[in-house]
Amino acid sequence: MLKIFNTLTKKKEKFQFPYSKKINIYVCGVTVYDLCHIGHARTFIVFDIIKRYLEYLGYKTCYVRNITDIDDKIIYAANKKNESIDVFVKRMIKLMHEDFLCLNLQNPDHEPRITRCMQDIISFIESLFNNKLAYISDNKDILFSIQKYNSYGILSRRIKKCCLNENKSNSVFYFNQSDDFVLWKHRVNKSDPYWISPWGPGRPGWHIECSAIINKFFKNGVNIHGGGIDLLFPHHENELAQLKSIKSSFSIEFWIHVGMVIINNHKMSKSLSNTVLVRDLLKKYDSEVIRFYILSTHYRHPLIFLEKNLNASKNILNKIYVSLLGSDVSSEHSDYHIKLRNIFRKKFFSAMNDDFNTPKACLILQNLSKYITNIKKSSDILLYNSLSKDLIFFGNILGLLHHDPKNFLFSSTNQILASHSNIHIVKKLVRMRDAYRKHKKWNLSDIIRKELLKLGVIVQDKHERSTYKFIYKN
Ligand SMILES: [Zn+2]
Repeated sequence: MLKIFNTLTKKKEKFQFPYSKKINIYVCGVTVYDLCHIGHARTFIVFDIIKRYLEYLGYKTCYVRNITDIDDKIIYAANKKNESIDVFVKRMIKLMHEDFLCLNLQNPDHEPRITRCMQDIISFIESLFNNKLAYISDNKDILFSIQKYNSYGILSRRIKKCCLNENKSNSVFYFNQSDDFVLWKHRVNKSDPYWISPWGPGRPGWHIECSAIINKFFKNGVNIHGGGIDLLFPHHENELAQLKSIKSSFSIEFWIHVGMVIINNHKMSKSLSNTVLVRDLLKKYDSEVIRFYILSTHYRHPLIFLEKNLNASKNILNKIYVSLLGSDVSSEHSDYHIKLRNIFRKKFFSAMNDDFNTPKACLILQNLSKYITNIKKSSDILLYNSLSKDLIFFGNILGLLHHDPKNFLFSSTNQILASHSNIHIVKKLVRMRDAYRKHKKWNLSDIIRKELLKLGVIVQDKHERSTYKFIYKN
């Protein structure tokens, strides 16, 4: 059975909903003031996997991911570019969608823009007023009163001052009125965008957006709420406080948080100028390489970004595709060597059921790939094809192995194939070509020869074994 680590309880818990249930998933989306970076890629690839896996298990899902299309950073960035906010935001959303498409992320069922949900947000704040959780501050902003909400801090394990006694450690956090957060920002500058509300012109605070959207789409509660770990406090704590304040029975069963990306020993951040953009990575690496790399670290751990590790992932994925080169998955037989195939199946699914242990699942893909490479050398073609089909099936659950092996290995982003650092793969291809020649499969051997040539590798045919040389050195 699937178990998921729940930030709320700090435990791995059984995900025991009936398979007939539609699973409601909400993930905090992008604030579209700049291009998407590897931190975005990591978070949304992780939830892409979670959605794919739940669907594999038989659940239907409803996945909602918001777009924050108004905030201070957006106003600043649009002004800097000398664009209207509307034009700027449309352009940034288009670029975000391009990145997500290239990363092979499945689309959410709903992707609401905040500025299109203003009435929902205003109604939500009115409900908070009715329940006496909201108040008007001296500067006319509308604030949420933390003091009036008893369970504040339950998600992030911070404790309110009023709950502390003398024996409690000093290291716990506490709150007072200055920690009250903004629900509605009163318009200060005449040039700022605004919406009309019962409290005058202004715009929503950040935290209220997600609560209002969750309330709009998921009246019956959310089964999985997720985002990056940096959102745990205050954003998710505040979201939960708002939702519980208008409906105490509102439930969010699983809170899932994705670890940070660390670059040069620091958390990736724009202010440190250590941001790695998705589109820059995509110029150099196939999206499956990026995905494989990201999934090779468990989602709850920090991901220490190192380009050499990304290249290592590329080499591993190349090897996996080489093992699939020449397989015919249409000719497998579902029951053939079922005991052997079940060993890999069991390992793969027990890894995924253990809080989406994708590093282990990736290792099982590698092991299966090595196994089928050996089978390939034997004469049991049916077993080779059957295991190849299993390998592709497991890969697809992770959003991998969607390419035709030949296309992947000879793609423009995979030029490293012809470098000396990847000589083992070139060797494998040349030997594979020898095998095709031996069996008089001239068409296939010729395809490999031509593609190797394009990549700067010349093959010279001898009787049984060909030799090769690089035309240029990398
Ligand atoms: Zn949110």
